Amino acid sequence: MTKSIAEERLTSSDQSWRMATEAVKVEADSRMIRVNLVDMLKLAGMVGRVGKKSTMAIDCVDRRLRRALPGRCAFCLGRCLPDAPWCRACLIALPWNRHACVQCAEPLPESAPRYCGHCLRRPPAFTVARIGLRYEDEIAALVQRFKFGHDPRAGHLLASLMSETLAGLESEQWPDMLVALPRHPQRAREQGFDPGPWLAERLAARLRLPWHQPQRLRETPSQRGLDRLARRRNLKGAFVVDGALPERVALVDDVMTTGASLDALATACRAAGAGYVEAWAVARTPLGH
Ligand SMILES: [Zn+2]
Ligand SMILES: [Zn+2]
Repeated sequence: MTKSIAEERLTSSDQSWRMATEAVKVEADSRMIRVNLVDMLKLAGMVGRVGKKSTMAIDCVDRRLRRALPGRCAFCLGRCLPDAPWCRACLIALPWNRHACVQCAEPLPESAPRYCGHCLRRPPAFTVARIGLRYEDEIAALVQRFKFGHDPRAGHLLASLMSETLAGLESEQWPDMLVALPRHPQRAREQGFDPGPWLAERLAARLRLPWHQPQRLRETPSQRGLDRLARRRNLKGAFVVDGALPERVALVDDVMTTGASLDALATACRAAGAGYVEAWAVARTPLGH
């Protein structure tokens, strides 16, 4: 690890900060998998002396170092796999959504059939959902940093994780075009950010596919407490796709929760000429109902 990256970030003359820098150097040089500066200082019996404020500062440095160091795993600061922003151990440890409904990606028990009860009773307008991760642990933290902290590194990591999920697709399974799931312009302005189109644009560049951003005519009213049918009615006509779409499209969003917005967008895509629609997202929350 270069001296400058860590030390430029440590501007305080506080002794504990300098010790924290040294701790990172030792950790990185010995290629240990997990780094936690506070734990290291605790081991050295230093936390009692550095005090709560300094401990919080070290926590902050720890988090920033994890995000910012090139060539180091984004999750643990260990050495990256070649051409990847993570190490093998962290990649394996992520909450992969391995056992899930084929159509809506709802996490299912290992012994469950391939389709969930909801999709068997009333299937959504998309045929397959490719959502490789569950919205838990490191992934939930990463999505929060992306959406609410507007952290582009977190966004690029999420796009990389989506690419990882899609890496096994056969050539005939690729869509002709990506279609972003946008927020309503007013909501995007309020948040200063629209995660669906942001991800779709990066993913399209990586996969060398065209992408399209439909119009969103209304924001989704609160879906809480509504059943699936009511959610579907709530979103009817919420999206307008300008022009004709190719045969195969994949919708792109960050996190799929109920799937109602993706369902409404899939319906709009079919009305615009798409014959086959998939739903792609980084992570899936369990429906729980
Ligand atoms: Zn790692
Ligand atoms: Zn399902």
